[in-house]
Amino acid sequence: MLTKTKSHIRIPRRQREKLKKDPNFTEMIELLEDQGDLEAARQVRGRDLSLDEYLRTHISKPAPVRQSNKRRRHMQRVPIFLFTTVVLVSLNCTRQPKPFTGKIIDLSYAFDSTTVYWPTEKGFIFEKGTEGYTPGGWYYSANRFWTPEHGGTHIDAPIHFFKDREHVDEIPLERLIAPGVVIDVTEKCAADRDYQIQIDDFTAWEKKHGQELNDVIVFLRTGFGKFYPDRIKYMGTDERGDAAIPKLHFPGLHPDAAKWLVKERKIKAIGLDTPSIDYGQSKNFQTHVTLYEQSTPAMEYVANLDQLPEKGFTIIALPMKIRGGSGGPVRIVAVMD
Ligand SMILES: [Zn+2]
Repeated sequence: MLTKTKSHIRIPRRQREKLKKDPNFTEMIELLEDQGDLEAARQVRGRDLSLDEYLRTHISKPAPVRQSNKRRRHMQRVPIFLFTTVVLVSLNCTRQPKPFTGKIIDLSYAFDSTTVYWPTEKGFIFEKGTEGYTPGGWYYSANRFWTPEHGGTHIDAPIHFFKDREHVDEIPLERLIAPGVVIDVTEKCAADRDYQIQIDDFTAWEKKHGQELNDVIVFLRTGFGKFYPDRIKYMGTDERGDAAIPKLHFPGLHPDAAKWLVKERKIKAIGLDTPSIDYGQSKNFQTHVTLYEQSTPAMEYVANLDQLPEKGFTIIALPMKIRGGSGGPVRIVAVMD
């Protein structure tokens, strides 16, 4: 559907030819954005415009200048060329985009007053702002929130436990969008809430699936997700402050297994359904240190891991882009194959 956008843009011939050859219209979109015609850019990006309409609406010939005979003869050939190009490329562009039908599973908890944070943190603060109809007649709603970086479903940037490593805004997107796998240790963690995931748990997965744990985002399913947000069941205590730290009991990744993952395999990132990648009783957080030295980020308080198969999905995990942050809230989704 074509809706009216801003006025035509005058584009020199050579540049027009280049734009027409670009099947994704990337340069055209950038040009329109530069010109401030965001509506047109949106239409072109969404293929709301067929190429035909796009050329007619958005590309004008440059203002006429005195032309030599040679130039005039050349210009006479342009409409034929243009027509041919439009017909050829239109055949491709009039096809409807394929609708997205993949099943999506949300792996993030909502942030609210029940969101679980480390015992020494205050938690999520939501300050209700304006809400309602304005004197002008339109509805308006805007609030404020405050949050520590590390709490609820969030990601640790490598700088969280290793000097001179990436901040949260510097984590490469290639580490955050990748095939995902689930290592299920639910039974072991049900028997021992201080369980630390071992190298054997990973090699057992590899043997079962005939695949090495390379280029994947690894999730550790401890089964503790079902306790969230009950602090006593989820992390071992609902007390707050430094005195609560020794009372933390929940599973995590053993430092030796962390070392194996970053030295013997090449994983993109890791995540689990407990408050920390080191188990609750850890005193020196060596799993954090080992992973982050190798720039491998970890996601904590991951939700709904019980809904995932052991493989066969793509993870998209995009944290809030806090400049210089050591971590932050992350929206994680699994898109099923
Ligand atoms: Zn953290």
